[in-house]
Amino acid sequence: MTVPASLPPTAPSRHVPERSCVACRAKRPQGEFVRVTRVEGGWRVLPGQRTGRGAYVCADSPACWAEKRLRRAFREGAPAISAALHARQAPSVPPITPTPDQP
Ligand SMILES: [Zn+2]
Repeated sequence: MTVPASLPPTAPSRHVPERSCVACRAKRPQGEFVRVTRVEGGWRVLPGQRTGRGAYVCADSPACWAEKRLRRAFREGAPAISAALHARQAPSVPPITPTPDQP
């Protein structure tokens, strides 16, 4: 009788912190959100800021950036947060590459 000695290696379950969007309530890995940080006097979109209270909004879902949807979480700060979220991915002016007219 042989007892299977080798158990399948248990994959180390890396803890992926899940957050939920304040606008649509979807649960996703933290990396897929924009973090909105509570700072003195209001909410700010501060990339890289990890301190203080945070709220999360889908990074790739413009529907979640609507002021109306953010108001529940951010109250009077909603317009500014909405603007900041939109500004993040504002379509930049296409680079105008001057085409030199060679003689
Ligand atoms: Zn969302």
